[in-house]
Amino acid sequence: MGFPLTGMTLKNMVSKPVTKRYPFEPQVYTELTRGHIHNDMEKCILCGICEKTCPAVALAVNKEAGTWTIDRYSCVQCMACVRNCPPRSQSLSMKPEYAPAVVSMSAETFTKPTEAN
Ligand code: SF4
Ligand code: SF4
Repeated sequence: MGFPLTGMTLKNMVSKPVTKRYPFEPQVYTELTRGHIHNDMEKCILCGICEKTCPAVALAVNKEAGTWTIDRYSCVQCMACVRNCPPRSQSLSMKPEYAPAVVSMSAETFTKPTEAN
């Protein structure tokens, strides 16, 4: 019978840390990271399918106002909206980086650009 704790302690003292010194070392995301939903508003046709298929009720589409709104604090990163965005639009994608931290937990609204703006 040895001293397993002594061995473990000595091993930990000489091995590299498994954690990252964030933010001094930047985080590296993989292609599979479910960071945040992005909508390319130029391509979005405001059909509302994403709103109807979102299980977390995190999306709202207003065709008249030309807006698409996401509540990132309700989103569960399931990607149902990305999968159901129609092929003629394909404006939704999952970006592999996390959205920047914000002060208030309000939903974000994006407006479809028109010829005028
Ligand atoms: S499903 Fe796609 S095209 Fe339709 S409103 Fe949502 S983001 Fe826009
Ligand atoms: S990823 Fe899922 S939860 Fe988030 S907005 Fe899309 S459908 Fe809703």
